[in-house]
Amino acid sequence: MTPDAILPGATLGVMGGGQLGRMFVHAAQRMGYFTAVLDPDAASPAGLVSHHHIHTDYLDADGLGRLAGISAAITTEFENVPAAALSTLASTRPVAPGAHAVEIAQDRIREKAHFVRCGVPCAPYAAIETVENLVDVPAELLPGLLKTARLGYDGKGQARVNTREELAQVWEAMGRVPCVLEKLLPLSWECSVIVARGRDGQMVHLPAQRNLHREGILAVTQVMEGAVPEPQAQQAIEATKAIAQGLDYVGVLCVEFFALADGSLVVNEMAPRPHNSGHYSMDACDVSQFELQVRTLAGLPLTQPRLHSPAIMLNLLGDLWFAQGEAEATPPWAQVLALPGTSLHLYGKHSARKGRKMGHLNITRATPQAVRETALQAAALLG
Ligand code: ADP
Ligand code: MG
Repeated sequence: MTPDAILPGATLGVMGGGQLGRMFVHAAQRMGYFTAVLDPDAASPAGLVSHHHIHTDYLDADGLGRLAGISAAITTEFENVPAAALSTLASTRPVAPGAHAVEIAQDRIREKAHFVRCGVPCAPYAAIETVENLVDVPAELLPGLLKTARLGYDGKGQARVNTREELAQVWEAMGRVPCVLEKLLPLSWECSVIVARGRDGQMVHLPAQRNLHREGILAVTQVMEGAVPEPQAQQAIEATKAIAQGLDYVGVLCVEFFALADGSLVVNEMAPRPHNSGHYSMDACDVSQFELQVRTLAGLPLTQPRLHSPAIMLNLLGDLWFAQGEAEATPPWAQVLALPGTSLHLYGKHSARKGRKMGHLNITRATPQAVRETALQAAALLG
């Protein structure tokens, strides 16, 4: 705990009003904090449940002034909040994570340079910022994935390119924005690790979680004995800590990894906030990733989280609302909740869209086998 800890009864602020902000707000309120959300959308999931909701643009001086005026400290729930807004807030209030770390995470080129600096291997890549960079691309990076350096998420802003010609065409079509070209790797499996680091440098971590993506979007996270093999789990945790340490990070940080056929791990990307792959911690751990975010922001003590149940998280995408056809229909929640160990989390979004993250279902049971059985039953009900 830091000497100037912010205790329950104070107001904590968050930049961004999406589902991650909503779950931060819930965790903070449960602990007796008041909350303030800045998000331009009047119906934002976090704004709907917060004590204060300032709906202005992220760079609006009046909005930022009001947020800083009512908040004892401020965090962020999405990485594309302008770093300049965080710097402005930091001139009067503690802000975690800081603008510097968020700025690096916003840009795949700077992010990869940081991984390299920390001695954590990533997929072979080249930065593409100029026509000369295109010409210089080594042949071994093809076939590859061309990813925009900024603003990509859920597989958006990336495309597979097989040849130099395709690379040039796709980069042109992307508007010649700065990109990275990554070698397309044969992935055996994927995992991620969440660490929380306090202002005093103390770090704790959630267990390494195994992730399954469909079409670039996280679909399933599994956390149980053996889901991530031991040597790789430890390696991923150490690498994530090194990455956080290297940023002098304060807050919750998630790092994604790829495992290759020979068992080696390479880092993919990081998120300077709680992460979709850490949602199981809300029901399967004694401290959730959102409570860790509250604690790091407020300067409260951190204790090493304990996984008390094996768990599977199923992401609930908007597609489920259209499982019966083109008309929007509510998924069969009552049947899903009749299965033992299921916890439903919905984000309060007013309309479903295909690919939109609407909620998630956490499944916790006494044994890994029981969790897997229930997850299959839930998946069958949801179609
Ligand atoms: P986003 O920011 O959209 O999450 P990612 O870079 O994490 O983008 O890519 C999304 C998913 O695409 C990854 O989780 C992985 O399944 C796949 N992917 C990304 N990069 C590679 C790569 N170099 N080789 C093979 N698959 C990849
Ligand atoms: Mg990703």
